[in-house]
Amino acid sequence: MPLSANDPNRTSWLYVNKYSDFPIQNIPFGVFLTREHIITIGTRIGDTAIDLGAMHQLGYFDGIPLTDDIFLQDSLNDFIADGRKTWRAVRNRVAEVFDSENATLRDNTKHKEIICFRLDEIEMQMPVHVGDYTDFYSSKEHATNVGAMFRDPENALLPNWLHVPVGYHGRSSSIVTTHIAIHRPQGQTMPEGATKPVFGPSKLVDFELEMAFITTDANDLGEPIPVSEAEEYIFGLVLFNDWSARDIQKWEYVPLGPFLGKNFASSMSPWIVTLDALEPFRVESPKQSPKPLPYLQTKGKHSFDIHLEAGIVPKGGKETTVCKTNFKYMYWNMAQQLAHHTVNGCPVNSGDMMGSGTISGPTEDSYGSMLELTWKGTKPLKMKDGTERKFINDHDTVVMRGYCENDDVRIGFGQLKTQLLPVFKK
Ligand code: MN
Repeated sequence: MPLSANDPNRTSWLYVNKYSDFPIQNIPFGVFLTREHIITIGTRIGDTAIDLGAMHQLGYFDGIPLTDDIFLQDSLNDFIADGRKTWRAVRNRVAEVFDSENATLRDNTKHKEIICFRLDEIEMQMPVHVGDYTDFYSSKEHATNVGAMFRDPENALLPNWLHVPVGYHGRSSSIVTTHIAIHRPQGQTMPEGATKPVFGPSKLVDFELEMAFITTDANDLGEPIPVSEAEEYIFGLVLFNDWSARDIQKWEYVPLGPFLGKNFASSMSPWIVTLDALEPFRVESPKQSPKPLPYLQTKGKHSFDIHLEAGIVPKGGKETTVCKTNFKYMYWNMAQQLAHHTVNGCPVNSGDMMGSGTISGPTEDSYGSMLELTWKGTKPLKMKDGTERKFINDHDTVVMRGYCENDDVRIGFGQLKTQLLPVFKK
């Protein structure tokens, strides 16, 4: 099926600012509460939210095989499970209906009132019910920085890293979407120089600038997904802030890896941008040496040129950008991650989420965490209000953004904003 939704020459009868992340070529998917407090699946063009459930009821998807209630759900899981052919048909149809040249809905005021919402009339919800969440560790720069800080600068990468897309199983119950505040976690730490662990609020709460991909039903128990087919099972991507408590993490992670220092919260952006919409921005991944084992070998372009940034907004203050990086720096691509994840026969389901791992670039201002940006707190960052940050303070808001851009079109992810509140008190 052609990706007619991606036609760069198409314009919409809805107003779209030229710097918008959501031109008619994007057509992401999300879940929102309407002004009548009805939950629905929707998309967005410019600053207009579009109720796909209402469009379906009014017949705008006639001819596409969809169940009656496919968009009247509180998550995208069933729609995602319908597979790539359906995602493409729906995106193509939305593009047609909102095309400047198409008068059908444009000139139907009554239908527009039912289908279209201003952003301030809606409330974004979690777009998927995340069944399982896996986090990789696929940025060579990040793994090298962390290895150099905590182990040995001469042997920063562990011997497996260049052969295996390293990952761990996270926890999905604490994944939240944008504008949901989180609390500073408490836990057990071993302070520098101490001989006994202490219990209390984490002193080193950090963000991790990541992206995550959302899968469809991919395989049965026992069945590996070949690397050459893996992208067919990827629905789309979101911005992902994988909150981390570095002091808890440091004390607990041996020998089984991340646990309570990680699973207190992770934040995802609410609009899932499809892999289809990102097609024009494919680029080659960094050259892999040594050559991976055959089941991980990919040919062609499997990474995406997505500009990423993170900023910190102190309470009542202005935002300071602290990091600019790019998804294309990832050493292991998504196809390799998914092929590796299933090579032992582990089943992957609709709505599963796979984090990239912190995305650090080659320069000091492109590191994707405060741990690296401030080099373990030894080089604090200056905020616009004159204060300094080694890690994240109570009441700070961390903002993440991501977008792709070429001469024709800009496709973005909007914002992911999360405020860190003090320790939870009843
Ligand atoms: Mn992570």
